[in-house]
Amino acid sequence: EEDPRINGIKTRIRVVPDFPKKGIMFQDITTVLLDPKAFKDTIDLFVERYRNKNISVVAGIEARGFLFGPPIALAIGAKFVPLRKPKKLPGETIFEEYELEYGNDRLEMHVGAVEAGDRALVVDDLIATGGTLCAAIKLLERVGAEVVECACVIELPELQGRQRLKGKPLCMLVEYR
Ligand code: AMP
Repeated sequence: EEDPRINGIKTRIRVVPDFPKKGIMFQDITTVLLDPKAFKDTIDLFVERYRNKNISVVAGIEARGFLFGPPIALAIGAKFVPLRKPKKLPGETIFEEYELEYGNDRLEMHVGAVEAGDRALVVDDLIATGGTLCAAIKLLERVGAEVVECACVIELPELQGRQRLKGKPLCMLVEYR
């Protein structure tokens, strides 16, 4: 029932305990990128899902959404828009804040990159609490885009991040419990 490519991807994810601090099981996707078959399978699975969905923009979240978003965007014929950490984008920006374990962070987007009526796919490597994806959805909706779905390689389901996605569907390939 599960696509046979998923297990190959799963086995390439390196789990690093206590990184960047004690108690975090860090899901390292750089080891997926080292295996061209697993990397291609990851992209292909998303491309197969989104190629006929009239997606006009893929919004990738800094930094690891920049690894998976652009090849998906190219394959489905959508534009790519980076959602960046503060003070990286040179043009006029809008931002949304979200909570971290300690303090706040924000995502910024260039004004004019996404327009009313755009159909957006949001891409990141992983959903934990969902706070990051929630901020991305808010940015896109503020400029009148329709968020069709969020796509992540990995979900940490115990944190119930899906419930913060404002009702938007989430597609993920690998669950880590
Ligand atoms: P959240 O906003 O809580 O859903 O966190 C998701 C963001 O934090 C993504 O951009 C992930 O890359 C990163 N992240 C959170 N937890 C982990 C983890 N255990 N391993 C790797 N990245 C993580």
